[in-house]
Amino acid sequence: MASPTVSQSLNRGGSFLINSTAPEDVFTPADLSDDQRLIGQTAEEFVQKDITPFIPELEAHKDEKLMGRMLKKAGEIGLLGGGIPEEYGGSGLDKVSATILAEKLAGYGSFAVSHGGHAGIGTVPIVYFGTEEQKKKYLPKIASGELLSCYCLSEPQAGSDSLAALTRAVLSPDGKSWILNGQKMWITNGGFADVYVVFAKIDGEKFSSFIVERGTPGFSAGAEEKKMGIKGSSTTPIFFENAHIPKENLLHEPGRGHVVAFNTLNAGRFSLGAYCIGGAKKVLEASSKYSKERKAFGKTLSDFGLIKTKLGEMAIQIFAIESMVYRSAGMIEAAVSNPAPGISKTQQAMQVLEEYAIESSISKVSGSEMVDYVVDEGVQIFGGYGFHEDYPVARAYRDSRVNRIFEGTNEINRMLIVQMLMKRAMSGAVPIIPAAMKLADEVLAGPSFEEAPTGHMAEQEKSLEQAKKIFLLAAGTVVQKFRDKMAEEQEIVGALANIVMDVYGMESTLRRAQKTYAKRGESASAMVDAARSYIYDAMDRVEKEARTALIATADGDTLATQLAVLRRFAKHAPIDTIALRRRVADAVLAQDRYPFEGR
Ligand SMILES: Cc1cc2nc3c(=O)[nH]c(=O)nc-3n(C[C@H](O)[C@H](O)[C@H](O)COP(=O)(O)OP(=O)(O)OC[C@H]3O[C@@H](n4cnc5c(N)ncnc54)[C@H](O)[C@@H]3O)c2cc1C
Repeated sequence: MASPTVSQSLNRGGSFLINSTAPEDVFTPADLSDDQRLIGQTAEEFVQKDITPFIPELEAHKDEKLMGRMLKKAGEIGLLGGGIPEEYGGSGLDKVSATILAEKLAGYGSFAVSHGGHAGIGTVPIVYFGTEEQKKKYLPKIASGELLSCYCLSEPQAGSDSLAALTRAVLSPDGKSWILNGQKMWITNGGFADVYVVFAKIDGEKFSSFIVERGTPGFSAGAEEKKMGIKGSSTTPIFFENAHIPKENLLHEPGRGHVVAFNTLNAGRFSLGAYCIGGAKKVLEASSKYSKERKAFGKTLSDFGLIKTKLGEMAIQIFAIESMVYRSAGMIEAAVSNPAPGISKTQQAMQVLEEYAIESSISKVSGSEMVDYVVDEGVQIFGGYGFHEDYPVARAYRDSRVNRIFEGTNEINRMLIVQMLMKRAMSGAVPIIPAAMKLADEVLAGPSFEEAPTGHMAEQEKSLEQAKKIFLLAAGTVVQKFRDKMAEEQEIVGALANIVMDVYGMESTLRRAQKTYAKRGESASAMVDAARSYIYDAMDRVEKEARTALIATADGDTLATQLAVLRRFAKHAPIDTIALRRRVADAVLAQDRYPFEGR
């Protein structure tokens, strides 16, 4: 498969906070190769032709196995094996292709979730941690859809705190099998899967992972959960009552289940951002069309400023997440395709996933919050009809909500973003501490007269630089005060995580707009408007979050000084974001769709 067409320099995960990346080093959707576009197109057509006609039946969920058959259909045309190397029957897609595949499969939320349960978190553990025998036995059939899979980590009493699992595994007296007892909860594809990746504690202590096949005596799947959304997907509990599974079905090493679990979630989180982009684009498209059809007060809805601002902001939010996710996909792919000597591509891919765990959590949190915003505004544009089940925005609204809950809740992921960053800062992997010290010297030296950025989007360039300084100012103050007790200050950690995400969004949108403008000039003006609007608003958010964190951390003269420095860093020239959003809305309305795709 094609690898990115940009000169990606290899960046450390999280280093965007202190380094600057050139526009040409940032992968954007315009850099997709023809092959990659074709993969997206195939996925989109599949959803349109093979899934959409069955949505009413899937939503009614009378036939609990119907979604399983849909997945098998996807397997017949190669849409399930993207994450599986070719030698095991998959297509070994590069990260960018896998990203566009996920995005384009998201036209129907229930299908996207089921696909992710199988081809993502149900597959990754075997690809990265399986023995040769396990890979040969399961992967070709998982790639074709002959076997459907799922990932069983959560338990009734252990969701976010997944290591508090009570499911136990003990070796049988003859040493030939593991005997599993316990219960899993919320398992996507649970009702029809054939292969279950199950986490259990050996002797109640060593957290480990196992492959369990449907049909194993003592194994059973419970009734379908009655969910708020994604009603077409299967979600069930799983029970083990003295279920004997072959000894060789232990996945990875005893006591190393957490490595399997968390690395798998990293992969899942990244893809979740891509699925969210696809779902949000569909809602924007429907909202744009409706706003032109529906009349009120002698005009169409699309003529009203308060509707335009919604359409504009929906597109801007999608643009920001799309820019971040494809940039990360490009970085991941560039790193995967440059394996260190003596390391297999699979091992390299696992290390790279760990390297970009911060970017994966950003993809998950910002993608899920973006799609929730978009579906909410979609319902509002549809008015009363948006509240009616006959209109697809009502379903999208319900379907979207779970994204903030699974694959690690957004609270857990916000904490992870900062924890991982601090770990890298302490180890020196990402030199945040020297950068913070340099900034402290700069602050002591007073306002500098260094040259301000010039050229196209110079104001946004300056905002980005200043936002990075604000992060260092706030994070440096917080770390100095709380040190190893920082994790207990969750609200402050959350504020720092929000700054991190906004900085990534600011840089990703800015670089993409600059790169596109350099190529296309004025025809990229709507994208430039989108980036300027996003960066302006992001700068306000960054300032607010930093102020909140500083006030909760410092006091007296120190606080007064820091707030003064913050005000200096946060200064940015006024921009008429109403006009920018209107122009972006006009671009949406002109095409009745998200206007920046592939550009
Ligand atoms: C439709 C659906 C499909 C799912 N599919 C799967 C699947 O295929 N496989 C699987 O293993 N699991 C699956 N899950 C489970 C999902 O991963 C969990 O629901 C999720 O991890 C949250 O766990 P919980 O529900 O126990 O909530 P809790 O962990 O009880 O959390 C409740 C609230 O408290 C917050 N919270 C918890 N701990 C902390 C903390 N330390 N600090 C701050 N806030 C905290 C959470 O963020 C959340 O807001 C699915 C869930 C749903 C709803």
